[in-house]
Amino acid sequence: MNCLDFRRLLLSGAGETETMREHRMTCATCAELLAEHAVFESELRGAFAVPVPGGFADRLLEAVPAGRADGQGRFQDRRRFLAATATAAAAIGLGLYAWRGRDDPMAMACIQFVMKDEAKSIMMGAMPRDEAERMLADSLPLARIESIGGIRHIAPCPLGEGTAYHVILMVPQDKVTLLVMPDTPMPSRTRATRDGMYASVVPLRKGSVGIVGASAAVVDSVAGALRG
Ligand SMILES: [Zn+2]
Repeated sequence: MNCLDFRRLLLSGAGETETMREHRMTCATCAELLAEHAVFESELRGAFAVPVPGGFADRLLEAVPAGRADGQGRFQDRRRFLAATATAAAAIGLGLYAWRGRDDPMAMACIQFVMKDEAKSIMMGAMPRDEAERMLADSLPLARIESIGGIRHIAPCPLGEGTAYHVILMVPQDKVTLLVMPDTPMPSRTRATRDGMYASVVPLRKGSVGIVGASAAVVDSVAGALRG
């Protein structure tokens, strides 16, 4: 096992295997990555405990016809049960239905980039900040990116037919990868999911940006914030 395999398996969210453990014992970088990942995971679990919209359960209760006087107590329980189930289903469904069966090729290419090329891009080093500022000025200015999180890495990388500016961004809930593609226009927002990774490509003023992360909710919120 090498570092890239370790990283890929870790990101797939399957948990640590014996071969991963053996590698980690001899590799400080991957040991650190695992520790960092554990922190993200626990923060993400916190982020998912999102309260349902206010009054939603109450409105559902009102929508269910009231029971007759003799069965009032039982109906009351039944209504509560129905409301709780519908609320849970809505909370899960709202977040995930949009990802099913929408495996757009460009969004899929962004996931593949994270799996195969992200580590290489980091090892090759970042581009100078003033150059990044200039290259992204027309599509997604750095100031706009930094309004939602801290940039940890930025470098140009080949992606598909063109060049993407590869950005590692720390947002409050998680770490996400951005692939800013100034020369790749996108008529509308697209999505893909694979191996526990979620990607969305959204149109910008000029070109588009792919967002990749391990949480559908975080990718959706970053996509919403960056949309052109
Ligand atoms: Zn390693």
